[in-house]
Amino acid sequence: MKATFVVGLQYGDEGKGKIVDLLAEKHDVIVRGNGGSNAGHTIVLKGGKTLALHQIPSGITYGGKQNIIGNGCFFDPVKLAEEIKNVTENGVNVSPKNLAISKAAHIVLPVHKAKDALREGGVGAQGSTKAGIAFVASDKYLREGIRAEAALNKSEKELYKIAHDGLVELGEAKPQAAVQATEFALETLKLSEYIVDTVELIHQQINSGKEILVEGAQAFGLDINHGKYPFTTSSDTTVAGLLSGTGLNYKQIGKVIGVAKAIPSKVGGGNFVTAIGDKKIAEQTRGEKGRVDSEFGATTGRPRGVGYLDLVALKRAVEVNGVDEIALTKLDCLIRHGKTTKIAVAYKLDGQEIESPPTSNEELAKCQPVYRAFSTWKENDSAEAEEYLEFIEKYLKIPITMIGTGPGRNDLFIRTRT
Ligand code: GDP
Repeated sequence: MKATFVVGLQYGDEGKGKIVDLLAEKHDVIVRGNGGSNAGHTIVLKGGKTLALHQIPSGITYGGKQNIIGNGCFFDPVKLAEEIKNVTENGVNVSPKNLAISKAAHIVLPVHKAKDALREGGVGAQGSTKAGIAFVASDKYLREGIRAEAALNKSEKELYKIAHDGLVELGEAKPQAAVQATEFALETLKLSEYIVDTVELIHQQINSGKEILVEGAQAFGLDINHGKYPFTTSSDTTVAGLLSGTGLNYKQIGKVIGVAKAIPSKVGGGNFVTAIGDKKIAEQTRGEKGRVDSEFGATTGRPRGVGYLDLVALKRAVEVNGVDEIALTKLDCLIRHGKTTKIAVAYKLDGQEIESPPTSNEELAKCQPVYRAFSTWKENDSAEAEEYLEFIEKYLKIPITMIGTGPGRNDLFIRTRT
């Protein structure tokens, strides 16, 4: 058996949740292999209810699926407990029967979040979600981290001490540190029955013929190695990163589906070559705050920067991930640009046209997009829509097999060739 991989190709928020949600129905096991509570998927359930998922894989809304938080994820027990409560209150059953957490996933401690909040409040702010991810990742690479297996071999007192000492060392007052440490220790222990060797579990499942879906969090533009460093996340968001973060091997890669949205958006610092300069068009593109598909962060509520489709950046994401096919979401939102929209087909750097994106932020800051204009349309099956889609396919040399036509679960059009 082979696994299907779904990865974001831009800056996150491409609508991966919806694509994974759709694919989950046909898979038995849904695995996350990177990121933590800093990721956010919004799923629109039957009946229009929305559900924000952060650490829990999107397969949870279907009964009878095995969901796995893999070894490459950062596990925040306090936030996960909140998420389980919220999901359960929305009528979705969560138990160790349908959710497993890797023993090797690194635990987000209260001190990691406190450090993140401190940095975001000061001069070094990077626009993070304050979920503590950069700090838990640093401890991991310093080889000083605590992994989920601590819930199985440490007592409440020991867990409390780890959390409390960290906070006090940072300068947190003892009573506040005590409250946070108590919550941390209790929630971590409560989740201990979910914690297993997920690499063993994944291989057992794939070897017994189960269909595996690997759900990438964040996206290529935020990848620690390939993104616009330091305006990145701390995870490997590529297919290679997901292999390592799940324990699957390269021979088990079936299909790689890259998700991109027709109206790319970006939060946090760093260059955004195709950002929409016109304030009015940018506002229109962002949509009305509060609408499920408007461009405001699912986790933070921050307004996102919005831009035109950038094929130069997308091509690199396709190459590095080995993407087989594209799911292009929010095609219905292109009309927000007005009568025409644009696609960047090259960048101009120091008077030269280039089709390969520079890796340095200094060079990127100097890049001007070279656009090709397209008419927008009202009907998704119009000739204008087809021209737009075929142009992208030709440029990227891979097919667009799914297009998003609205926020709901069923607002998805499967493209078949004639
Ligand atoms: P993710 O992190 O990549 O899963 O993306 P988010 O969940 O943050 O953002 C996706 C949002 O866009 C959700 O509210 C979806 O319901 C919505 N969405 C996804 N695909 C489409 C689409 O094709 N059209 C519209 N209008 N909204 C979409």
